[in-house]
Amino acid sequence: MKPVPKNLFCDRDGTIIYDRHYLADPAGVELLPGAAAGLLRISRLAGGLKLFVVTNQSGIGRGFFSRAAYEACQAKMAADLAEAGVALTDCAFCPHAPADPSCHCRKPDTGMWEELRARHSLRPEESVMIGDKPDDIRFARRAGFAAAILVLSGQGEKSALALGLPVDPCAFPEGGYFDVGKSVPDKLLAEPASMPDCLAVDLDGAADYLAARLGGGHA
Ligand SMILES: [Mg+2]
Ligand SMILES: [Zn+2]
Repeated sequence: MKPVPKNLFCDRDGTIIYDRHYLADPAGVELLPGAAAGLLRISRLAGGLKLFVVTNQSGIGRGFFSRAAYEACQAKMAADLAEAGVALTDCAFCPHAPADPSCHCRKPDTGMWEELRARHSLRPEESVMIGDKPDDIRFARRAGFAAAILVLSGQGEKSALALGLPVDPCAFPEGGYFDVGKSVPDKLLAEPASMPDCLAVDLDGAADYLAARLGGGHA
């Protein structure tokens, strides 16, 4: 992570809020443990990071719920985060079904990155991604981000097990996270596309990792 990160990209379902499987009702929006605290801490690191949400919402393209229902859920999440002092800079979503040939934005494709990059003049080497699925990590790699973090919430534990990573936080030497790059650097070479730089218990653990990296503890 050579340049100082200025932007955090964050998945929504299973990373910031509980994955309700095609969430369409704002009443179902519930922040995950550590989400608000972690985002607040990350937003204050290194002179301040902008917070972006990038979320696949194929339920719209599949006809399960409307764009308005999605917007209502986003508004509820933003309000819950604001109550904790967290301000989101911007959000992008992919409304397409997975098989839609016109889609270039469903993660791991990078359409949402291109959209936000253009709107806010962002640089990939100053950006970090956090998510709970391999496609979140691939998205970050394809976009050329400085780092990609997998959280254990949502599909994260399943994703980590599939990558052969330890999932018991009691075994994490640093407590809130497991530094993949530092602990098993050959793993990053074995499967670079979906292997995260770090496995974090939750967004608060991801904040621990980023704080340690920015503190200059190791390269
Ligand atoms: Mg997710
Ligand atoms: Zn799309």
